[in-house]
Amino acid sequence: MTTIPTLSLNNGVAMPALGYGVFQTPPDETVAATAEALRVGYRHIDTAAAYGNEREVGEAVRRSGVARDDVFLETKVWINDYGHDATLRAFDKSAGKLGVDTIDLLILHQPLPTRFDLTVGAYQALEQLLADGKVRAIGVSNFMPDHLDRLLAETSVVPAVNQVEVHPYFRQPDVLAADAQHGILTQAWSPIGGITFYPGWGGEDRRSTLEDPTIVRLAETHGATPAQVMLRWHLQQGRSAIPKSVTPSRIAENLDVTGFELSADELAAIDALDTGLRGGPEPADVTLEAFGQEIPEA
Ligand code: NDP
Repeated sequence: MTTIPTLSLNNGVAMPALGYGVFQTPPDETVAATAEALRVGYRHIDTAAAYGNEREVGEAVRRSGVARDDVFLETKVWINDYGHDATLRAFDKSAGKLGVDTIDLLILHQPLPTRFDLTVGAYQALEQLLADGKVRAIGVSNFMPDHLDRLLAETSVVPAVNQVEVHPYFRQPDVLAADAQHGILTQAWSPIGGITFYPGWGGEDRRSTLEDPTIVRLAETHGATPAQVMLRWHLQQGRSAIPKSVTPSRIAENLDVTGFELSADELAAIDALDTGLRGGPEPADVTLEAFGQEIPEA
């Protein structure tokens, strides 16, 4: 079984660098896929209230036979549950669905730039949950440097993690630099560029990171796959990554990334593929009106 490196968060909590993501995994496939991930050795799972599959993630952990303390569970509060009291209730919803007393890492899924007061209230609730021992670490997602500055000005606990879109075609060097400056770990979503090729998204002119000639060449050089090259790039640059797959062979492939090393020149060649084009929503444009979604009770 592959041993995945562990990262130490800014509050000393240990987190496996590579996790297993479940965005767009239908609830009726989540138990089997997540159980397979745990079987092959993943010990970190990334879900979200908005994914609608926290209950099935919890079920997979229980069925896996892996001890609860040996699995790092990360989930996210959706924007409809922002504000101090609403976010405390959001913890109860997520913990209830996961079937756990403690969540290892609870993060705000998006900044709400037009209602930053609610974003701050939500984060202050995370601080309270941390102080009460209900979560082991807290963080954010899709926060741009200006959102981090605003948050840090009004709160006291520096986020442990900022989960943002990072893949070879969209690297966000300004976000990576701001995270590093504040001592925040960057966690890459769409780490193998899923958003550049997921079925049904984007236009015909999309280019898939999996087919990029530089990535394919590096894969051939190292006897690896394109996905493994991209995951290696994240790990060697000190990021956490949370690849998603429901396909058993790919679930295993994405964990098997410790057998080769990219050189500094090879890492730089991947950095140079950045197009500056974001795949996901522009964080500044996320509003309750456009993205609101009620999160059911547990
Ligand atoms: P990924 O980069 O993980 O790519 C997932 C896609 O790649 C799926 O279509 C999957 O197909 C396919 N795939 C997986 N492994 C391989 C492989 N080895 N070879 C070829 N294809 C492969 O993209 P995601 O956007 O899913 O990001 C990963 C996780 O990040 C999410 O699951 C979620 O946890 C998180 N996330 C967070 C966001 C946020 O706003 N905070 C936004 C988006 C994602 P298949 O499953 O069919 O095998």
